[in-house]
Amino acid sequence: MKIAVIGTGYVGLVTGTCLADMGNTVTGVDKEKSKIDSLNRGEVPIYEVGLPELLKRGLRRNLHFTTDTHEAVMEAEIIFITVGTPMGEEGEADMSYVIDVAEDIAAAINGYKVIVNKSTMPVGSTRLVERVIKEKAGGEEFDVVSNPEFLREGTAVRDFMNPDRIVVGTESQKAAGIMSELYRPLNSPLFITDPASAEMIKYASNAFLATKVSFINAIANICEEVDADVKEVALGMGYDHRIGFEFLRSGPGFGGSCFPKDCQALIEIAKGSGYHFYLLEGVMQVNTEQMELMTEKVGKHLGGLEGSTVAAWGLAFKPNTDDVRDSPALDVIKRLMQGGAKVKAYDPQAMDNARQVLPELEYTENALEAVEDADLLLILTDWDEFKMQNFRRVGELMKSKVILDTRNCLEPLSIRRLGFNYEGVGR
Ligand code: NAD
Repeated sequence: MKIAVIGTGYVGLVTGTCLADMGNTVTGVDKEKSKIDSLNRGEVPIYEVGLPELLKRGLRRNLHFTTDTHEAVMEAEIIFITVGTPMGEEGEADMSYVIDVAEDIAAAINGYKVIVNKSTMPVGSTRLVERVIKEKAGGEEFDVVSNPEFLREGTAVRDFMNPDRIVVGTESQKAAGIMSELYRPLNSPLFITDPASAEMIKYASNAFLATKVSFINAIANICEEVDADVKEVALGMGYDHRIGFEFLRSGPGFGGSCFPKDCQALIEIAKGSGYHFYLLEGVMQVNTEQMELMTEKVGKHLGGLEGSTVAAWGLAFKPNTDDVRDSPALDVIKRLMQGGAKVKAYDPQAMDNARQVLPELEYTENALEAVEDADLLLILTDWDEFKMQNFRRVGELMKSKVILDTRNCLEPLSIRRLGFNYEGVGR
């Protein structure tokens, strides 16, 4: 099929390259010219495993990039909207990028097309995009469907190609047929429902996962007081198939470009419908407090932050990505710096992005350089590279041998055996 994907960020680029790899002819569109130029040169502007290979293969065959939305829309049968829907001033999803794209589509539409809302958009957005296009498009026939994306950064290509389910929200049989045909090669469960339910499925799924994280963080904090080990507790809970093992890892709190904004947006959606979502507000509150708690733990170890030197390993919101949007690591580091600590930070992939938002932070070339003369090592992202460090050497380089492992990614016994004062979360 002929496809246009508008917005070539984390979701759009993965969607476009994967759909091209499945045999479709794909045009990726972005308004950022530098991004399009680098994609056309075969350079991936983000860090995502497997993406460079897919991009190169696609460019040789059926994948193109342009800033020209008009032409891309005219040539496409299916148009994916994959622009950002960031948090607005009141916590609601900011739909301005989506509306801009809808207007661009309306200006170019030249025959029947399926327009796919893949970005995470509030309930009612399928109708909204439909309305915007209808107002400006004259009599052209089209359908707008909701098709939320569930991929995770770090495993995005694998997730796109092997989804647990594909959700399509539409009342049009014609559009449902085209979407089923498009996704048929993935051989995954296709769940066709109405647009509002599809939109809600995305928010409810993210809010549920965020709830699991805050729940286990709350349990972790109790574990610390009663001498239990949250890793053991989570494992024991996870064996129950009604609960499962996933998203029961305590840490510094959830972050990233989706969970915080989608939870907040769902709280706003609820408010708009007259429901006060106390549970989700609690989830967010626990999350904020968890980041504060990590800062307090550092202060306790050091007898105050003023004048201390902290080595921070990890800036990305999770391993295997360069994304620092709403990263708990940056939140904790900012709090430490505000408290008077000097922080030296290292991340294998996320330093360029972190520099944009935190230029005043000291960045080091590698993990060992960060720990030189540090009073405490703070592990904020559980990259494999950190787990595999030579901790004997780390100890020699540090001023005092203290590790706060906010990801519980090290083995406490073996670290303590090397003479470290080691603390995890909830253990
Ligand atoms: P992103 O910021 O990485 O990418 C958005 C892209 O859209 C940018 O490159 C931007 O330049 C481009 N853009 C904005 N306006 C445009 C316009 N008018 N025309 C052309 N291009 C335009 O965002 P993302 O992380 O890919 O997220 C996109 C959506 O997908 C969001 O709604 C997000 O919530 C959702 N989502 C994200 C993830 C994730 O892991 N990142 C997972 C599932 C869903």
